[in-house]
Amino acid sequence: MTLELGVALDPALPPDAMTALAQRAEEAGLDLVVIDPGDLDPWTTATWLLGSTKSVPIGVTLTPTGAPDPRDPDAGYPSVAERARDSLDLLAGARLITDPDAWTSAPADLSPAALESAASTSVPLVVPVATEAEVDRVARLLVEHGGPRPSGPRRTSSVWAKRRPGIAYDDVPASLAATAVEPGDAAYRAVRSTYLRGGRPGLVLRPTTPAQVADALRFAGHHRHLPLGIRSGGHGVSGRSTNDGGLVIDLGGMSSIEVLDAPSRRVRIGPGATWKQVAAALDPYGWALGSGDYGGVGVGGLATAGGIGFLSREHGLTIDHLVAVEMVLADGSIVRADREENPDLFWGVRGAGANLGIVTAFEFEVYEVAEVGSAQLTLVVPDIEEALLRFGAVAAAAPRDTTVFLVTGRPRAEGAVIQLYGLVDSPDPEVIVERLTPFASLGALVQQQVFRARYTDVMNQAPDVGSDGHHGHGEPHARSGLIPALTGDLARDAAQMLRTGDVYFFQLRTMGGAIADVDPDATAFAHRTAAFQVTAMGGDPAALDTAWSRLRPHLEGLYLSFETTTSTERVADAFPPATLARLRELKQRVDPTNLLRDNFNIFNIVNIEPSENR
Ligand SMILES: Cc1cc2nc3c(=O)[nH]c(=O)nc-3n(C[C@H](O)[C@H](O)[C@H](O)COP(=O)(O)OP(=O)(O)OC[C@H]3O[C@@H](n4cnc5c(N)ncnc54)[C@H](O)[C@@H]3O)c2cc1C
Repeated sequence: MTLELGVALDPALPPDAMTALAQRAEEAGLDLVVIDPGDLDPWTTATWLLGSTKSVPIGVTLTPTGAPDPRDPDAGYPSVAERARDSLDLLAGARLITDPDAWTSAPADLSPAALESAASTSVPLVVPVATEAEVDRVARLLVEHGGPRPSGPRRTSSVWAKRRPGIAYDDVPASLAATAVEPGDAAYRAVRSTYLRGGRPGLVLRPTTPAQVADALRFAGHHRHLPLGIRSGGHGVSGRSTNDGGLVIDLGGMSSIEVLDAPSRRVRIGPGATWKQVAAALDPYGWALGSGDYGGVGVGGLATAGGIGFLSREHGLTIDHLVAVEMVLADGSIVRADREENPDLFWGVRGAGANLGIVTAFEFEVYEVAEVGSAQLTLVVPDIEEALLRFGAVAAAAPRDTTVFLVTGRPRAEGAVIQLYGLVDSPDPEVIVERLTPFASLGALVQQQVFRARYTDVMNQAPDVGSDGHHGHGEPHARSGLIPALTGDLARDAAQMLRTGDVYFFQLRTMGGAIADVDPDATAFAHRTAAFQVTAMGGDPAALDTAWSRLRPHLEGLYLSFETTTSTERVADAFPPATLARLRELKQRVDPTNLLRDNFNIFNIVNIEPSENR
């Protein structure tokens, strides 16, 4: 039995004596200091004591919780109180306990029998004290009682009340218990949601070593009835790296970036790193590794799916530079995969990695990139159909050193606003201007920003995710497809789709170039000949589907990173029949019970020929 013992400070004590006793209790190894601030302001007292101690939790009953009384100038506002509590949680490391049910008060003359019975509950017992000698006496009781000490984060009854059904919280592996996060924990807010999706997982496990990932997967294996999300950077559009009531294995802590061999430009990157961190780490060597258009995206999700970025036309997809991975498979085994060792797994992880295991390290051969031209152009175009068609021609004809993406939304009767943004891989201003001029001529240029920069500065434009994590809410609805050529018919149908008003975000990512140099059978990302990747997002999934159906006949294949539908048809769009058959056979070998299923699940998918009218 674990006995947790604390002290309740006498409210009549002078303030400095209160502080001294709290510090004494901490030194003596007690589990909790409860204060009744008496005439003092409770927030100020709690803040002061948290600041005066380092690790001991401080318990205080705080009011109010109801609506403020506008006639009472001293009435606290719940929203203000909540913010103050959040700030204290962050600053003091979640040591503030405000739930009075989180401790039980004992009499000063605590009997051995009462001590024994307290050990059978999971709530700390607090003994009133007014002197250092009394604090020491309580500490001696704790030592004399012996027994195990509590491990892992302190959880109060109010946290236990928020536990979700079906999770064996007490069975969390010892290696993960200290960092696991449950609803109600102070750290929960920072791990519950992702960049685009709001979530309420029942438990977030945060491994930092492959062995801990294996422990997490074993735990997940005992919870197959629940959703399981795998998270690296949390920018997943297609995946479910958060959920409601399920488990999340969060690899954010595995974010190291190291150079393995400088002459061959070989680097090893953890899945939790972001691409802006990767760019910053490679920059001093004059190296870069193309990822996507946004430096905030995580390595794990992108490097297991593809990576269509600003340098792809020149250097290929991100996965085309992968030379090895370290993975934990569903059975907990830790394996390496490259061209010689587990070559099938190495093939599959480059495009369908999320189905096959959890990648704990990626090894890439990166390339040299000097200064680049970074461009953001805003244009007003009278006719969106014509603008799309012309953009298609200009973007596809651009030299490989130039990659420009297009974003637009609902057009208006008087015209549409299109944003063009991208990169020219040249430090020469004349080349940059020459390459961008055809794009700038697609409409009336109303705003432009073109500058010479290091690739890292381009990636660095994404803001950092702060200590309070992502703030996504709701569900994103996105449709994704690959376009072999941007024809007049496609431009017409895309314009019609946009005019419905049901698509608020429409994006064309230019492909081609080095992406198409790679044999379609070389990786599980097989749609190598596409000229563009297209994404549409809308608020109403049914309306979005109807609008998107205009575009579907023009599509050949799908890049899974931008699709939120999880149907078998979409999986079959993402992987051509031969690729899917090979992936399914691989899945049977490495994950026969389909533990990893959050993202474009290939399990039990028969080879479905994409039909015309979906
Ligand atoms: C603002 C924004 C811009 C983007 N721009 C681009 C772009 O230009 N080009 C592009 O190609 N993509 C782009 N993406 C898409 C992005 O690549 C994917 O959403 C990717 O999955 C995000 O990776 P993550 O680790 O941040 O996401 P997470 O949400 O952490 O993971 C997404 C999914 O990846 C899988 N996964 C994550 N980590 C691992 C792992 N270690 N091992 C195995 N599977 C794992 C899981 O199935 C998970 O559900 C963009 C996304 C956003 C939100």
